[in-house]
Amino acid sequence: MTARLRGSPGGLQVRGATRVVGLLGYPVRHSRSPEMHNAAFAALGLDFCYVPFAVPPDALKAAVRGLAALGVVGANVTIPHKELVISYVDELSPEARLIGAVNTIHHHRGRLIGYNTDATGFLRAFREDTGVAVRGGRFLVLGAGGAARAVVAALALGGARGVTVANRSLPKARRLVARFRRAFTRLDWSAVALSGELPSSRSFRGVIQATSVGMAPGDPSPLPATWLGGSVAVYDLVYGAPTALLRAAKTRGVPHAGGLGMLVHQGALAFTIWTGRRAPVDVMRAALLA
Ligand code: NAP
Repeated sequence: MTARLRGSPGGLQVRGATRVVGLLGYPVRHSRSPEMHNAAFAALGLDFCYVPFAVPPDALKAAVRGLAALGVVGANVTIPHKELVISYVDELSPEARLIGAVNTIHHHRGRLIGYNTDATGFLRAFREDTGVAVRGGRFLVLGAGGAARAVVAALALGGARGVTVANRSLPKARRLVARFRRAFTRLDWSAVALSGELPSSRSFRGVIQATSVGMAPGDPSPLPATWLGGSVAVYDLVYGAPTALLRAAKTRGVPHAGGLGMLVHQGALAFTIWTGRRAPVDVMRAALLA
């Protein structure tokens, strides 16, 4: 008996030998990762399928240990579990340890290994979609949550010269900066309040928007349009319809991109961890755009 999986172009089928990858989040209904990964498995003819699991926080430990018990290949981890899940895996990759969050689990030789592919996914997408080099540049990061930590790690690992973190809650921005200053002593670090006076856009090569502002239609831009200028590139992690910040960047003629590329690349890196195969990035992007 086989069952055809909805949303799987190419006719992915579930059989007795099919290997399973899951998504642990709460909620997960909104996630586009199942379409993206199932399209990639089908394109490469891999007998895998990707299944979303809505896991409430108090069931996370049991769900993670269940991955091992069920023999699944691995999982993605999304809001609100990326930090808590660290306590439940057996090992962490260096990036996951640095960022303090896991977005990908691999069940390998009986052990659950936690990875974070958001940082490298961001770096690839930022370079590809804005054409701006990270090495030697100064960057402004908006936000101090899990995504901002991945972006800050990517910038530091990518050779940036300086990073300023601007957040609604200034103490949280300061804590983030203190954590990374210890690991990357040569960078110029600073923390500012998002509502306070920001250094001129001319001090930066790029601004990366990593708050949740822009996820809801009608959200304002977290930066005044008048702040944008010079050659500062704008990357907004929010994906979907262009945010107010991206519309302002377009109006002012500065290079800009939304977070779809990061979603594709973090997914492609996870795909390779699970399957050992190079991910069909164009297929994954097309599945998200469909
Ligand atoms: P998070 O840990 O909950 O952090 C949320 C951040 O947004 C915090 O810095 C918070 O500031 C700030 N914020 C929330 N509401 C705000 C408001 N009204 N005004 C100003 N700042 C506000 O979330 P996250 O996991 O970092 O995710 C952040 C965004 O990145 C989300 O939109 C998510 O979808 C996106 N993301 C995209 C990708 C991708 O692949 N493209 C990957 C990961 C995440 P406070 O600290 O002051 O509360």
